[in-house]
Amino acid sequence: MLVCQLCQNFIYPIKDQDLTCPGLYDRHDMTELSFLTPTLPGSATDQIFDAIYRAVVSLELPPGAKISEVDVASRFDVSRQPVRDAFFRLSKLGFLAIRPQRATRVTKISERAVRDAAFVRAALEVACFQVALDVITKDQVVDLRALLQAQQDAVTRDARAEFHDLDDAFHRRICEIAGHGHVWALIREQKAHMDRVRFLSLSQDGQLAHDEHVVILDALETGDAAETEARVRSHLGRILTFVSHIRTKHAAYFEDEP
Ligand SMILES: [Zn+2]
Repeated sequence: MLVCQLCQNFIYPIKDQDLTCPGLYDRHDMTELSFLTPTLPGSATDQIFDAIYRAVVSLELPPGAKISEVDVASRFDVSRQPVRDAFFRLSKLGFLAIRPQRATRVTKISERAVRDAAFVRAALEVACFQVALDVITKDQVVDLRALLQAQQDAVTRDARAEFHDLDDAFHRRICEIAGHGHVWALIREQKAHMDRVRFLSLSQDGQLAHDEHVVILDALETGDAAETEARVRSHLGRILTFVSHIRTKHAAYFEDEP
């Protein structure tokens, strides 16, 4: 299955024929939708949710792209019900706009939602870091240092999607160490609004994000509560310093809002 880069229609190429978009009756560049493949064990709904979530965050399914239940059900060889359920979950996260009698589309990015999400995320994570300060063990610090080394490797290879996953893993581990693993589910909901902006920025900011993680872990290891909070707030608040710039640079991906 392919998607037209101009009108975002899904296309099923016929073997050995030129790729022609039925929406515009014109030949466009197409992108393979090979990223929409099951990656996790679990229900069909979980697999579809995860595949589309990743495709949206990595902009393989860009803001404004059309996506249909029928196409996805065919791709995953399932009935429409699990697709409908996955679409509903993605719409609750703010990733898909489902409207009756109209095509479902990937939502555009809202700068306002990004700013609200950054505020909520910082409040939750600072609280987790404060608890982690008192309970983190030497072995857990060693594990986190290995995770940061893997982040550095991903940055060096410019593996942005991999870095994004490892970045999440660092923050999720802190919640778990604090004994509040479920908080990560709340943060994941909030940060869905931020993820695409982060992905757009990672080409410039992956190294900086890694370096900030190192400084945060140093502060955590030494038990310095004030320094840890300051570094975490600075790290999570940095998106606010570049979201306007990203919006200007990628205006078509953003909601038209004041
Ligand atoms: Zn981070």
